[in-house]
Amino acid sequence: MTLLDALLKRPLLGDGAMGTQLMIAGLEQGSCGEAWNLTHPERVLAIQRRYAEAGSDCILTNTFGGSRIMLNRHGHASDVVAINQAGVAIAREAFGGKQGFVIGDIGPFGGLMEPYGDFSEAQVRAAFVEQARALVDAGADAIIIETQTSLEELGIGIEAAKEAGAACIIGSMAYDVTLDGSTFRTMMGVDPERAAAFMEERGAHVVALNCGTGMDMPRACEAIQRYKDSTGLPVMAQPNAGQPKLINMKVTYDETPDQMVKGVVPLLEAGCNIIGACCGSTPDHIRAFRAAMDQHAGVASA
Ligand SMILES: [Zn+2]
Repeated sequence: MTLLDALLKRPLLGDGAMGTQLMIAGLEQGSCGEAWNLTHPERVLAIQRRYAEAGSDCILTNTFGGSRIMLNRHGHASDVVAINQAGVAIAREAFGGKQGFVIGDIGPFGGLMEPYGDFSEAQVRAAFVEQARALVDAGADAIIIETQTSLEELGIGIEAAKEAGAACIIGSMAYDVTLDGSTFRTMMGVDPERAAAFMEERGAHVVALNCGTGMDMPRACEAIQRYKDSTGLPVMAQPNAGQPKLINMKVTYDETPDQMVKGVVPLLEAGCNIIGACCGSTPDHIRAFRAAMDQHAGVASA
């Protein structure tokens, strides 16, 4: 069954954070977590296996910063294809033969395009096409272009995924709650209605949000409702586990699984097709989500 067929049959559970889990596993701040797909595949696998065991239906590859432009900052540009292919293989192995969907992860290229920055549109396009091809060729079931703030970069990502032949393309925006708390939009000023219309027009298959600032579970639910009012496409949410706090010089996120799971049923009732979590979430968060989703499905079918 394809991911798109599956998510229309029942809501699917995504996974939790990778970046914060890599830090716990010993990755130093500022070093290249994606290179671990080649140098420490067992550590990446151990994290993803915990998500699979917690009940994830979908696992994102450890390739968020796996574009040539991002990897070049760490001197790994020559390993783009190998890092992305290994990322798909590790995520697949995490399911241990169980059915599950591997979502190839493409994050922002990490800069600004001309005339505001140093990168030409052609460079960004080439980097995204190269990454998307490596992910799709290795067998990814979908591509997610995530933590996006500008429609321009998102559009290039969607086109790259199309060019690579991705069977399912997910566009995911990072919103920030405004200072007065009244609404949220991306850093580049994009609101959910505009993002949803843009993604539908460009041929994405799933409209998503992830990460962001102040986007807790109730805010994510509001974004999902606004997406649903703007598009007939399936929708996905991956909020952070609350807010980052600096404790003993370590960044920790302040929402426990018990707190965060309260937002799961509202998301289901809003029609969310894939529910996962972003920064600070752990296998324990995902396990709590699984229980809530199973209980809700049981109640719904009873
Ligand atoms: Zn995040």
